[in-house]
Amino acid sequence: MSKQTDDFFKSIISHAKEYGFVFPSSEIYDGLSAVYDYGQLGVELKNNLKSYWWKSMVQLNDNIVGIDSAIFMHPTIWKASGHVDGFSDPMIDNKDSKKRYRADQLIEDKIDRYEKDGKTDKAAQLQKDLDEALSADDLPRLKAIIEEQNIVCPISGTKNWTDVRQFNLMFSTQMGAAADAAEQVYLRPETAQGIFVNFLNVQKTGRMKIPFGIAQIGKAFRNEVIARQFIIRMREFEQMELQFFVRPGSELEWYQKWKESRLKWHLALGADPAKYRYHDHVKLAHYANAAVDIEYDFPFGFKEVEGIHSRTDFDLKQHQEYSKKKMQYFDPEINQNYIPFVVETSVGLDRLFLTIFANALTFEDLSTEEKQDSRVVLKFHPAIAPVKAAVLPLTKKDGLPEKAREIMQRLKLDFNVQYDEKDAIGKRYRRQDAIGTPYCITVDHQTLEDNTVTIRHRDSMEQERVEISALKNIIGDRVSLTNLLEKLV
Ligand code: ATP
Repeated sequence: MSKQTDDFFKSIISHAKEYGFVFPSSEIYDGLSAVYDYGQLGVELKNNLKSYWWKSMVQLNDNIVGIDSAIFMHPTIWKASGHVDGFSDPMIDNKDSKKRYRADQLIEDKIDRYEKDGKTDKAAQLQKDLDEALSADDLPRLKAIIEEQNIVCPISGTKNWTDVRQFNLMFSTQMGAAADAAEQVYLRPETAQGIFVNFLNVQKTGRMKIPFGIAQIGKAFRNEVIARQFIIRMREFEQMELQFFVRPGSELEWYQKWKESRLKWHLALGADPAKYRYHDHVKLAHYANAAVDIEYDFPFGFKEVEGIHSRTDFDLKQHQEYSKKKMQYFDPEINQNYIPFVVETSVGLDRLFLTIFANALTFEDLSTEEKQDSRVVLKFHPAIAPVKAAVLPLTKKDGLPEKAREIMQRLKLDFNVQYDEKDAIGKRYRRQDAIGTPYCITVDHQTLEDNTVTIRHRDSMEQERVEISALKNIIGDRVSLTNLLEKLV
């Protein structure tokens, strides 16, 4: 990371904390590694993102419905899905620093360094070697690559490595009070399986006809070997997943459609399209016949935000085998029974949050010849901004606060609105800019005479005088999710 991008990344983390978006978990106890809490504004932003996703899936598509399945599930589900045996990362320890690393990531870091130094041939060759070793699950080869490449531990600086071992990422716990009769259960590492095991319930009770989808938003847990880069790699995070069930043979067509529509969904939020790219998977998971990531250009480089996978009939077939219940669908159009194929779209809400935050955080120099000035603005799309408007009496006297409160009372029925009377008005504008509030409504002496206020626009900083009675429509027009949703249809 260059100094400049490193500084920008640090300012994202400090701004998120300073303004109540994201706090390190259990901070007064020195934190808990790779676990974060969302503060008073973070939760609003997160809820707005969830709402945008949910509506775009469930409300805009009459063949998609949502569910909310439990985090605990029957342990055999994780056997059937392959997670008990195969959900692991290759890890390696440095014997001197006692630090643990993901072997593939140590090698990827080296590839990044080759690329930064312009050694593209070396980077390509190393990527090829890494892909081959990963595809073959060849752990000794991964260690050999680390040694051949002279990769040292960033802490101890030595090459004193252990062998590479597989490390299962699932958290487990005991269910039931009596220790001897207790059953080992897992905290789900993905929300997808909750959808697969409810496939028949939803299909039958909802009289769903293929193609149809089931959407879910919920927490997932992974005991990541190394946790870094803020809310990119967490041990507890949230996913928004769609499993779309299709007729066998049509899955790649649907995969293509979802791949395009998901990128469109991200772009509607207003980020620079050059910040996004597709990354096709070289090594396909055992269940997939096509897979792509949508990546975002974070300050530390492109990273996956969403995965789109054509999962074949793997999951339903496995559940049919393990549960001994038929996972079939009768297709009246072709008069046949079959196990549907599945196309999955899976976006991490926390990573999405970070793309939105990184994209919105802007440092503006407003200096003129007379004076130096600057501001920090979170330029969120108004539809997802945590606070939609702030109501600000110009002074604390002459009945202005009472009038402002009256306006606030009306607006809060429709919008998340803040009231602020402390400090000079300029300072209050800056505070709202820093949390991304699209509108500031200022109540002044003229308001008492003619029931008009000024409304200040966050991005242009322009102000206009409007009737109080027009505020609801002016704000509503811009902050409505409809603005985003209509770009998708
Ligand atoms: P990665 O390769 O970065 O570990 P993944 O391929 O394992 O990610 P998926 O299993 O496809 O991720 O999960 C779907 C989405 O869930 C990812 O695109 C990402 O946004 C999110 N996600 C996965 N792991 C984490 C994590 N540890 N912390 C935050 N979000 C995560």
